Amino acid sequence: MTRSVLQAGSGSGGSVAAKRSGAGSGTASLRALDHRPMDATPEDVNRARLRAEAAWAEWRALPAARRARHLLEVRATLIERLDDVVETIVADTGKVATEAVVNEVLVTCELIGWYAKHAPRLLRPTKVRPGLLLHKSAEVRHEPLGVVGVISPWNYPLVLSMSPVVTALFAGNTVVLKPSEITPHVGLLAGEIFAQAGGGAYGDIVQVVTGGGEVGDALVRSGVAKIAFTGSVRTGKAVMKAAAETLTPVLLELGGKDPLIVCEDADLDRAARGAVWGAFTNCGQTCMATERVYVVDSVYDEFVDRVVRLTGKVRQGTGPGSDIGATTHEGQLRIIESHLSDAIAKGAKVLAGGEKVNIGGRESMEPTVLVDVDHTMATMRDETFGPLLPIMRVRDVDEAVKLANDSPYGLNASVFGRSKRVLDRVVSQLQSGNVCVNDVMVSYAIPALPFGGTKESGLGRAHGADGLYEFTQTKSVASDRLGLRREPQWLPLPRNLARLVRTAMRLRYRSRPNRSSHPSYDTNGGTEP
Ligand code: NAD
Repeated sequence: MTRSVLQAGSGSGGSVAAKRSGAGSGTASLRALDHRPMDATPEDVNRARLRAEAAWAEWRALPAARRARHLLEVRATLIERLDDVVETIVADTGKVATEAVVNEVLVTCELIGWYAKHAPRLLRPTKVRPGLLLHKSAEVRHEPLGVVGVISPWNYPLVLSMSPVVTALFAGNTVVLKPSEITPHVGLLAGEIFAQAGGGAYGDIVQVVTGGGEVGDALVRSGVAKIAFTGSVRTGKAVMKAAAETLTPVLLELGGKDPLIVCEDADLDRAARGAVWGAFTNCGQTCMATERVYVVDSVYDEFVDRVVRLTGKVRQGTGPGSDIGATTHEGQLRIIESHLSDAIAKGAKVLAGGEKVNIGGRESMEPTVLVDVDHTMATMRDETFGPLLPIMRVRDVDEAVKLANDSPYGLNASVFGRSKRVLDRVVSQLQSGNVCVNDVMVSYAIPALPFGGTKESGLGRAHGADGLYEFTQTKSVASDRLGLRREPQWLPLPRNLARLVRTAMRLRYRSRPNRSSHPSYDTNGGTEP
């Protein structure tokens, strides 16, 4: 499989600048991808926005079902280029091919399929009751916003670019995508796929600009209609601050410190396997990775034994027999090391891993299990984004929930147990945008489920109906049905109007709720109004 190295950035030939560099033709090997595309200038970013805006007129005018058909063409093109896509993801990130196929391409394809099926219905205008005004008709329309700026991270460079991009497109917007500077080739390849799909029809609906934070900042300030940002809390706050200057709306999918709770009646084998996969897949570089585990005292020792045994069997490498790959970049490794050394200095014990290894030329961290941890340690409080699995012993489920909620993050959480009553209670008490029961991370792969964070883990939702409406603006339309000469409240005001309305209101609103059926009268701990 051969492909040329792509290059984007400044220079002639337009703002997308997804042009092939004459020099770099070759296989998508690690070496070829060492060639970094140039950073786009603010002018490039602006040109990209203008091009996407020009494409918007035609794209937004298409019926939603026609847009959906084109996006299924995009999916077919993605599958045609599957090997190329997987190879590029692997080369840019150092993850293993299976992770790229399952966690990125498959999830993207399912999401496109779900929206192709449901977006046309969800985007249809909805009639609502006109209330008192029976002589009016009322409807809610969901209209596109315009050009959406998408800024994506490096850990899942395909799906975390494609998810906001395709959702915005389904809703009738066009897009400027800025992929992470650490994984630019995946973003460029995605741009190429959009340009190719359907024989190049609607080839300009996605523009790609490459570069780092400055380019992202230029995109935020470029006059786009909305920014969909996925990345760290720190950058998310900077994006929101910059966007505030122009009141540009933002969708923020930020970091996490996801807890996993093991109740005393849990299936310990499944819980241990879930924790090991949740903590180590993608070498721990997942926003909703299992970053801390709380185990009820009575099953703690057995759970830890199982986790340590399973961790010893995880194969870290680059080839087909590997379960997990590399730490993608050195900056991340430094954070992981600092969390590990801080924990050890404060009394934590390493029961598995704990060493650095070279994986395909990238210095990486081994899958590592830590015990004797507590909340004074960075590894229990700050996002590690690496393969550390700290396990803490707790008295009971209540203490586990309290510790799980003792965090500025609230992206995802997991709970393992059998009692439905306890599980339901834990689910409702956890301060988290997503909760997986007897499972980990799986909510992201269900396209109908809205995904997003509470607290500092973000604003807004991706996926599902909520995710689609993030990229629409609501237009409320009220229409007169009778065509009378005038309305009662128009000028000049009828003399007796106030008296008539008072009388009508007294008749309509005087009744009080029934004491036995209204929740505000429930004296046994019912909901206050
Ligand atoms: P990051 O915040 O460093 O970078 C994300 C993107 O923002 C990159 O494209 C970067 O170039 C760009 N950027 C940097 N400074 C910017 C600025 N001032 N203005 C605009 N854009 C700017 O994050 P990362 O290291 O690429 O990704 C890892 C982080 O992303 C982790 O915290 C992880 O939890 C989070 N994440 C969240 C989700 C989610 O869905 N909630 C998914 C994946 C990753």
